[in-house]
Amino acid sequence: MDSLAVLHASQLITLAGPKRPRVGTEMSELAVIRDGGMLIREGKIDIVSSSEEVAKNAGDAEVVDAGGRVVLPGFVDAHTHLVFAGNRLNDFERRARGETYAQIAKAGGGIWSTVEKTRAATGEELFNQAQTYAEWFLRCGTTTIEAKSGYGLRVEDELKILRVMQRLNKQTPLEIVPTFLGAHAVPRKMDADKYTDVVIDEMLPRIASEKLAEFCDVFCERGYFTIEQSRRILTAARKLGLRLRIHADQLSDSGGAQLAGELKATTADHLEKTDEQGIAAMKSAGVQPVLLPGSVYALGSTAYPRAREMIDTGLAVVLATDFNPGSSPTPSMPMILSLACTQMKMSPAEAITASTINAAHSLNREGEPVRLWRASRNRGSP
Ligand SMILES: [Zn+2]
Repeated sequence: MDSLAVLHASQLITLAGPKRPRVGTEMSELAVIRDGGMLIREGKIDIVSSSEEVAKNAGDAEVVDAGGRVVLPGFVDAHTHLVFAGNRLNDFERRARGETYAQIAKAGGGIWSTVEKTRAATGEELFNQAQTYAEWFLRCGTTTIEAKSGYGLRVEDELKILRVMQRLNKQTPLEIVPTFLGAHAVPRKMDADKYTDVVIDEMLPRIASEKLAEFCDVFCERGYFTIEQSRRILTAARKLGLRLRIHADQLSDSGGAQLAGELKATTADHLEKTDEQGIAAMKSAGVQPVLLPGSVYALGSTAYPRAREMIDTGLAVVLATDFNPGSSPTPSMPMILSLACTQMKMSPAEAITASTINAAHSLNREGEPVRLWRASRNRGSP
């Protein structure tokens, strides 16, 4: 039997609407069908309507009674750092005791400790660990994620991470959209300009020719990559056919959002410190802001990005977990939606739009069928 009928959802959230990212008051319009149902045939949603209408057309489909629960599209998590070795539990304990990021890094923690462990790991080891995380995402209701490289910082190690993603994408029901983030940090004892050249001259051409990434990202921040270095990397990436994302204005208002506007990047991510000019630059260039309240929370900060202002300005806001071993070790989109509502004053409807249809647009997946059916078939029950 290749058909499945889901009946009696108290609310079936369809998000039907214009075929573009939702902005302003559109973010509150979820297109809800009360006592809704849907008929899935051969892995594709065929009918979405009232339970009565779907039941009439169900034929010999397997029937699942949603029992008054809410049924909504799978979450699309548009910012994760999926593939890494080890964990950073020690960092968390140190931070809880009041140590700063700089003190933790000096004591052997921080991103560099993850880079060392990831370099030392085999592709097989990384695959096994990431496969466990893929399972976590699916269990939290996420069906598609964006995943960044960036814990290798050497040509072969960055390629190793991207190949793990490619393999995972084929072998798990979770869809993975790969992003190259060779410019995640400057390797120790290396000059930032020299490393920028390595990213542009050695890494990007290999990644583009092997089609290992759809997007290129840069950590544009004081102490990481300057505006000029970020511009060079992203411009080179675009020439090779990659779309652009930027880690912008997380720790300081360094002009990252403006750069995203100037380069017409698909997204600018973080934006905790972005001001009105940055918001205006994103608006005029159609850049989607990807907000990551999980990392603000896990770092013990209260400086959340200005989500309300961004929505009121007409930006197509996206929410994501920033899943990573250091600053946001959660794969849970429900947790992120909760933070968005309690800490950033988004409405639940806006948060759902930001974590489904808007996130899908930011990954160029807006017209894609969800892989849910394959997931449910593999698991034996929906
Ligand atoms: Zn990130």
